[in-house]
Amino acid sequence: MNLLNTLVDKGLRRETPTREEALAVLATSDDDLLDVVAAAGKVRRHWFGRRVKLNYLVNLKSGLCPEDCSYCSQRLGSKADILKYTWLKPDQASQAAAAGLAGGAKRVCLVASGRGPTDRDVDRVSDTIKAIKEQNEGVEVCACLGLLSDGQAERLREAGADAYNHNLNTSESTYGDITTTHTYADRVDTVRKAHAAGLSACSGLIAGMGESDEDLVDVVFSLRELDPDSVPVNFLIPMEGTPLAKEWHLTPQRCLRILAMTRFVCPDVEVRIAGGREVHLRTMQPLALHLANSIFLGDYLTSEGQAGKTDLEMIADAGFEVEGTGEVTLPEHRAGGGCGSHEGGGACGPATADSCGSAPEEPRTDLVAVRRRGAGTDLAPNA
Ligand code: SF4
Repeated sequence: MNLLNTLVDKGLRRETPTREEALAVLATSDDDLLDVVAAAGKVRRHWFGRRVKLNYLVNLKSGLCPEDCSYCSQRLGSKADILKYTWLKPDQASQAAAAGLAGGAKRVCLVASGRGPTDRDVDRVSDTIKAIKEQNEGVEVCACLGLLSDGQAERLREAGADAYNHNLNTSESTYGDITTTHTYADRVDTVRKAHAAGLSACSGLIAGMGESDEDLVDVVFSLRELDPDSVPVNFLIPMEGTPLAKEWHLTPQRCLRILAMTRFVCPDVEVRIAGGREVHLRTMQPLALHLANSIFLGDYLTSEGQAGKTDLEMIADAGFEVEGTGEVTLPEHRAGGGCGSHEGGGACGPATADSCGSAPEEPRTDLVAVRRRGAGTDLAPNA
């Protein structure tokens, strides 16, 4: 297939594909799917070998957000029956992080619901970052606290944060349909602030919210322009009690095409499979490792993932290896940051009908489980 040969050549040269080429990846047929995966897999292996970076989410503050992001179970007016709690103390967060690190994670992602942190919140999170870094040598810490005000990114950097996550989520033209309490421009501004402060920027998307192929290509091209070190790709978890609870459009094949397109557009960037991996890729998860070089271990912010042990077995069975703390994630020309992360999974994160491939016959609501263990509970975490 000429298209795929062209995309592999461009990916190895870090050259941007055209919009038409990116759209063509999303429009490939199920018969061509394995060829698409094999082609994007060549680009993935060129820049990242067979390494898989593991990231671990710690939800520092869950629920009760004043913002109205329609995909989010923590939003204003959410009826989702999720865990709700206020800020974890530094030692509680550190304990939660330690479980993920013991399970093989290299990065801890500290996430808090809310529009953005107050200066007092930045103090709290700074104390938490210091506690985690003191107790775990070599750990990467990413903060994900919402929109940043001037000076806050610098303070997080000084406290030891390596990275900051803030997702664009969807295209600029559809952003207003998903959220009304802040704008796409606000989000771009925060990613730029993180970059400017010397933090490794992590910014990604959510697929499955009813967007078109053009929207998906738009958001991935916008991300390429922002130049984050890592791009989390969320697949909407349509949680009961949220406005997008009925948006069940994704198929495993569609998810693979979206990941392949993201890899071709962002060839040398950490592409991370984030929320919705188990719900939408299902038994095709191992194939997705040929496209993404990073996943979250264990549970998401408000929903449960598959057992951490199953994640590790899947990686080994598929012939990949967990990236160690001594290994640098990014290719040499990007290193400096060496990181990349975020919002990831459950809290922030959704699809449209497939341009090709069939839609699932029945929504797999049985695969969505609200998180009831780990941070904010007395139960052992999944890691
Ligand atoms: S995505 Fe973040 S800002 Fe939006 S409602 Fe959820 S927690 Fe709040």
